Amino acid sequence: MTRPTTIILVGAGHAHLFVASRVASLVSLAAHVVLIEPDEFWYSGLASGMLGGMYEPAEDRLDPRTLIEAHGGEFLRERVESVDTDGRRVRLADGTELAYDLLSINVGSQVPASFSETTDDPDVWRVKPISNLWKLRERLEAKFEAGQTPRVTVVGGGSTGVELAANLLALAASHRITMPVTLVTSTDRLVPQAPPRASRTLHQRLSRRGLTIRTHTRIVRREGQTLIAQDGSRIEAETVVLATGLEAHALVYRTGLPLRCRDGLRVTAKLHSIADTRVFATGDCAALEGHNLPKLGVFGMRQSAYLHANLLSSIAGRPMMEYKPQKQYLAILNLGDGTALATWGPFWWNGRVSMWLKDRIDRRFLDTYR
Ligand SMILES: Cc1cc2nc3c(=O)[nH]c(=O)nc-3n(C[C@H](O)[C@H](O)[C@H](O)COP(=O)(O)OP(=O)(O)OC[C@H]3O[C@@H](n4cnc5c(N)ncnc54)[C@H](O)[C@@H]3O)c2cc1C
Repeated sequence: MTRPTTIILVGAGHAHLFVASRVASLVSLAAHVVLIEPDEFWYSGLASGMLGGMYEPAEDRLDPRTLIEAHGGEFLRERVESVDTDGRRVRLADGTELAYDLLSINVGSQVPASFSETTDDPDVWRVKPISNLWKLRERLEAKFEAGQTPRVTVVGGGSTGVELAANLLALAASHRITMPVTLVTSTDRLVPQAPPRASRTLHQRLSRRGLTIRTHTRIVRREGQTLIAQDGSRIEAETVVLATGLEAHALVYRTGLPLRCRDGLRVTAKLHSIADTRVFATGDCAALEGHNLPKLGVFGMRQSAYLHANLLSSIAGRPMMEYKPQKQYLAILNLGDGTALATWGPFWWNGRVSMWLKDRIDRRFLDTYR
């Protein structure tokens, strides 16, 4: 009798949810599939709305254990600490080592350390992991109930920073509080990848709702409750939200496999490491050769069917499929007031229809796996 192929899936990211929901196909080829994840799956599509009070945390997360076990796989609620690709073993936080034949890494991303003083500061909130945003909402609501009005500064003017700033205004408004929220960005406009007119519209609408926006401002350090910019200007901020971009999760630096700077594990179009065909990586922790993909869930989702097919092909000894990323993608920013800004390349639309569409797409994604 042949030994089953052990496939270890590290992290319940978007692509691994897909594989978990189709694990039966791998099991039918005599594979033993184990998903290792220390948390639940928190969906970033609803994350800003959860911060703003539009969604409750239970709506924004799902349990990967139920998903994979229902389809014949195994689940371990643990954190992978390192990977030994020579010995084909992963080491867990509790010291246990597990052997694999095929490994797939889908551990997402983290917010880079922007100014060193912030690492352990309880008033500085990184936007990843997503569960941080629920803790932040709880903290702010406790302050509102205690009669306090915190001053919040969001650092970062990309899609995430803008969505979060807009939803912080919404959260305060739902408590009938006018909370001073400032958004600081080193760029010359909000969401630089959006069409310029869309950025201007965002700027006007958010300013009208009370958001203070400071462009061309790079924060270099925090002193007490003050943020100091490179030009010496000072911004009072007792609560800071760090939305300064995403880099590959630190685990990929502990694999010994080739990396592209802080962008992730270098993978071919077949989604395996350029140096090891037994190690796959997808989503934010992977750097696809020849492309510079933004760290967005949509790419992890698109990769998921290729990952699943290529795991099957690896076992069956068949040729693998090659993933080619789409050039354009739909991005919809929830602005917390019932409207959203949708962009598709040079086209954009701001209004309630965009928000309706975003809600529908996001809920449908989660419902697929519930
Ligand atoms: C506020 C916010 C809003 C966003 N909105 C959108 C949006 O609307 N649309 C969009 O496309 N993108 C959005 N993004 C980007 C999106 O979050 C990421 O691109 C996406 O989550 C990456 O998915 P992934 O599959 O790579 O990993 P993730 O979905 O992040 O999953 C990684 C999983 O790995 C687990 N993990 C981490 N370390 C370990 C370990 N050592 N061992 C085992 N498991 C581990 C984590 O717990 C997590 O469950 C948003 C990001 C933020 C911060």
